[in-house]
Amino acid sequence: MAFQTHQFPYGNDNYGLLLHCTVTGQTACIDAGDDVATDAALAETGWRLSHIFITHHHSDHTTGLASLKKRHNASIFGPHIDSAASVLYDTRFQDKDEFEFSGRKVTVIATPGHTLDMLNFYIAEEDIVCTGDTLFVMGCGRIFEGDANMMWASLEKLLALPDHTVIYCSHEYTIANAAFALSIDPDNASLAARQGAIIELRENEFPTVPTRLDLEKATNPFLRVSDPSIRKHLGMENASNAEVFAEIRRRKDNF
Ligand code: ZN
Ligand code: FE
Repeated sequence: MAFQTHQFPYGNDNYGLLLHCTVTGQTACIDAGDDVATDAALAETGWRLSHIFITHHHSDHTTGLASLKKRHNASIFGPHIDSAASVLYDTRFQDKDEFEFSGRKVTVIATPGHTLDMLNFYIAEEDIVCTGDTLFVMGCGRIFEGDANMMWASLEKLLALPDHTVIYCSHEYTIANAAFALSIDPDNASLAARQGAIIELRENEFPTVPTRLDLEKATNPFLRVSDPSIRKHLGMENASNAEVFAEIRRRKDNF
């Protein structure tokens, strides 16, 4: 039986995610930014929280951690790198570590750049990856603690996953990301079509998350740095992928 998923909004534009196994009854929450919203999601689903997987230390991902841990006695899995939140982690992971959750192998993919401690969680059997603030729908996280080379290397790890992998990210930034993507990749017909589709989703208050890796490869400019028309548009035909990535990230920071 595949995991059941329940995504819920909190804060300005965050998403939390519950992963539930109907066989074991275990439930993992990805991040813990808001304990009240997480408890409401648990009440709505009737699931009992057993685990919390922390992607990175930022407060919109960890503020509710202490109270959720105490209330549910959940096991907290988080990054190996120290932070203000890391005293609350029971088990700590780094790149390529694997652990078992409800009979599934979870592969830890370190994707530093937004923060140095960023972890993504890949469950191959479920075709799910939780990308935190690394890869967004048609966008990527702002680089706060790493540099562009580091962030590009992180995105390359996600690019290596199977095309049909379903991507759960932590923010609803898609409308703004689509507008920026079109400024970099104006002749991309799939991007123009997707912008229309996501505007309609948002008008009807539907989430644009999750997405799929093949869709991102077709429309996310941060994953399309080798595309000849994007390179031509930027006047960077002979640059390295990391250089093109850095330029697109720089433009997004000023968009
Ligand atoms: Zn963050
Ligand atoms: Fe965030």
